Amino acid sequence: MEDRLNQCIDALSKHGDRPAFHIRGTYHAYHELDTAVQTVRAWIRGNVSSEEQVIGLWAEDHLWTYACILALWAEGKAYTPIAPGTPVVRCNQLITQAGIRTILVASEDVVLAGVNVVRTGQLPPTEKGPNAQRVATDALAYLLFTSGTTGQPKGVPITRSALNAFLDAFDALGFTIRPEDQVLQMFELTFDLSVMSYLVPLLYGACVHTVPKDEIKYTYIHELLEDHGITVALMVPSILNYLRPYFEEINCPALRVNLFCGEALPLDLVEAWSHRVPNARILNVYGPTEHTIFCTAYAFDRRGGNKAHNGVLSIGKPMYGTVIGILDHDGTLLPDGSEGELGLAGPQGTIGYWHDPERNATAFVKPTNSTERYYRTGDRCVMDRDGDLLYLGRTDHQVKIQGFRVELAEVEHHARQVVSPRMAVAVAVRDPLGNMELVLVVEGEPMDVPTISRALRTLVPTYMVPTRIRFRDDLPLNANGKIDRPALGEWIAMNT
Ligand code: AMP
Repeated sequence: MEDRLNQCIDALSKHGDRPAFHIRGTYHAYHELDTAVQTVRAWIRGNVSSEEQVIGLWAEDHLWTYACILALWAEGKAYTPIAPGTPVVRCNQLITQAGIRTILVASEDVVLAGVNVVRTGQLPPTEKGPNAQRVATDALAYLLFTSGTTGQPKGVPITRSALNAFLDAFDALGFTIRPEDQVLQMFELTFDLSVMSYLVPLLYGACVHTVPKDEIKYTYIHELLEDHGITVALMVPSILNYLRPYFEEINCPALRVNLFCGEALPLDLVEAWSHRVPNARILNVYGPTEHTIFCTAYAFDRRGGNKAHNGVLSIGKPMYGTVIGILDHDGTLLPDGSEGELGLAGPQGTIGYWHDPERNATAFVKPTNSTERYYRTGDRCVMDRDGDLLYLGRTDHQVKIQGFRVELAEVEHHARQVVSPRMAVAVAVRDPLGNMELVLVVEGEPMDVPTISRALRTLVPTYMVPTRIRFRDDLPLNANGKIDRPALGEWIAMNT
């Protein structure tokens, strides 16, 4: 198998003066990226032992951060990103879970006990080194952590072969990425959609435009689209909700490929948006981190007649290599046309959660009536006669907040520590723009809200901190004696 990661690294020098990155108004040429990659590679060769496979990456918006990823791959290592601003308790949790001994940092001052923090931007420059190492295909490319129901994040390891399979599947969609392309990279590196957004352009010598964390994301994206002529963009639908009030002013004729992923895409929203991007091929793509970036695709048709369920655009057909199955509660494969849980199999799949045999035993299933081992996505779907999947919702309490995956149980786990011994329930409701927002409902008399929010910010990333906190004497129960979340959602809507 060709290793496209190595090909990408070995070809960097060929792109010379062409821009590789546009970060905060500064353009960085491919030769600059190549020099940074060589420098970090030399350090890794001299300082990281062969057993140390997973290296921490302080996920800054910086040329050296991307150089570190490529350098790690060239030396056969994998990265685990840690977002700057992550509470120290959570950083330590990730470091322990991933078994990290080294963290590569580009420019920030980072102090973390028990790990070797390396400021890569200050390493001495080196001569060009050997070509990228040939690495076993089952070696890891990255290990990402996503929200877990137990209060502990779950580690999702993705191998180089799974990432290569994604690249092949992406190519099979038929977009030709060219060196002239200007590609949007709007994601934090902790979110796997970032991997497509930086790796695909770098493979073809195109330019990556990043979105700084401290900027207002949607305004910055609008500027990049119009003023920097973005031609290829993968976005989360919630960005469109923010941009919607300004749609009339937006016109992006340069955009030729526009993908949406990460959450349900409302048909009316994408229809309205399509007029702002008159030359773009628009696709709704779908996939969990566990199945490497995305693995199904639906092409939006400007002429109309698009498939949707409850106003949500279809997620289409499996991409090249991916096998889908609709599963029953007990993990058996259901007949065509049934509603059920979407199962995913094929070469893009994870090898299983990191050091978590118990979770693996329930998250993956090999139905007796199939030869495949499916990952159970928790997404409810039905396949129509043409083989297109309609997205019906979740089977559990996982929600998406600005594209970030959040288990309500994880928010509750931490919130209950803060308000103990009281009971607290997290609910996701739509804000006035149509995006999901987290509301915490605490049982009993009102408490000081800023104190609770502050305490939560020391435990979980900002996107997991509820934007509103409400108090109620009692929490409603349903017929099964469980907390009635829909009733709480209605109560919140009436008391806004
Ligand atoms: P993540 O692992 O963060 O990429 O989140 C994966 C989850 O996001 C999926 O299991 C779905 O619930 C949701 N998701 C991703 N893409 C779509 C889409 N196009 N339409 C609906 N839901 C999506």
